[in-house]
Amino acid sequence: MINFQYARAADVADAVRQIAADTGAKFVAGGTNLIDLMKEDVERPTRLIDISRLPLTKVEETAEGGLRIGALVPNSDLAYHSLIEQRYPLLASAILAGASQQLRNMASTGGNLLQRTRCHYFYDTATPCNKRAPGSGCAAIAGHNRMHAILGTSEACIAAHPSDMCVALAALAAKVHVTGPAGERIIAFADFHRLPGDAPQRDTNLGRDEIVTAIVLPPRGFAANYTYLKIRDRLSYAFALVSVAAALEFDGATIKEARLALGGVAHKPWRDLGVEASLRGQAANEATFRRTADLLLRDARGAGAARRHPRPEPGGARHAAIAIR
Ligand SMILES: Cc1cc2nc3c(=O)[nH]c(=O)nc-3n(C[C@H](O)[C@H](O)[C@H](O)COP(=O)(O)OP(=O)(O)OC[C@H]3O[C@@H](n4cnc5c(N)ncnc54)[C@H](O)[C@@H]3O)c2cc1C
Ligand code: SF4
Repeated sequence: MINFQYARAADVADAVRQIAADTGAKFVAGGTNLIDLMKEDVERPTRLIDISRLPLTKVEETAEGGLRIGALVPNSDLAYHSLIEQRYPLLASAILAGASQQLRNMASTGGNLLQRTRCHYFYDTATPCNKRAPGSGCAAIAGHNRMHAILGTSEACIAAHPSDMCVALAALAAKVHVTGPAGERIIAFADFHRLPGDAPQRDTNLGRDEIVTAIVLPPRGFAANYTYLKIRDRLSYAFALVSVAAALEFDGATIKEARLALGGVAHKPWRDLGVEASLRGQAANEATFRRTADLLLRDARGAGAARRHPRPEPGGARHAAIAIR
């Protein structure tokens, strides 16, 4: 048993004060990822700061015509919120493609952004992993890596970001509002998550002593032409092998504006602005989309999956599916 302290935050300022005062502390919201990681001995916080009762549970219209989503809005409430269903159905589809109903009821919007990779070796403390133990190596590069990243990888880490919701938020160009000891700041979604580089232990550019308070969606929701396609080993309760958030606006028969983001293929939701720009003025047909897919994956590189299987991850379900293959 590894002891830790537990404290409830009274408000956002108190949450920031508490996390700034203890370098080993962590926020807990729905707990659906952090508690698993603690049970597996991957995370060892000295103190859990419970933020689940902070009043960050509203979905509100912004003066600019967008929506402000509180960091503690549960994933299921967000997916079924009428304004999200009507104006941002791409986001609703992506959320509903993730996890299970029970998990979505517990999982928070902020926690979804901060969930950690599902690389099996990250969860297995008997194996080297630069993300869990910097400098120890990466067991996945020569190991079982069929669910790992193929874009933006480094020699230190080839882990993929597991979130579905974040793929839609990337395509929609959301903004992340955070508060820390120096006050509030806004991070563009594209700058929130990081590529692994030589510091894979850092998933995001959020400061250790900052809290996510809200996600803000711009007015443009691409509600007329959108899709979230998730390819996975089973139809539910499985992480993406690859997912695509795609949205189009038309000028007559040609594409006026395109948004494309990929999940499951990189350390962060993968958006390529050059490829999106190349779609402007093109006809929406199979030839255009094939060319676009080739362009999006021009730098893709797999590590070459080994045949051996690592220890099952907590929950075991995805591992079972891999083993059956
Ligand atoms: C079996 C299983 C299957 C799943 N399948 C999918 C899937 O298919 N697709 C998918 O997208 N997700 C999936 N998930 C992941 C799930 O969506 C996340 O666990 C969940 O979104 C995390 O939210 P939470 O509130 O429970 O976070 P917590 O576990 O409470 O916290 C996660 C991390 O975020 C930090 N944190 C939380 N809130 C804040 C905040 N406001 N500010 C700063 N830091 C914060 C915590 O300190 C912690 O480090 C699955 C999870 C499980 C267990
Ligand atoms: S891919 Fe990243 S998370 Fe997985 S073992 Fe390698 S360093 Fe660790």
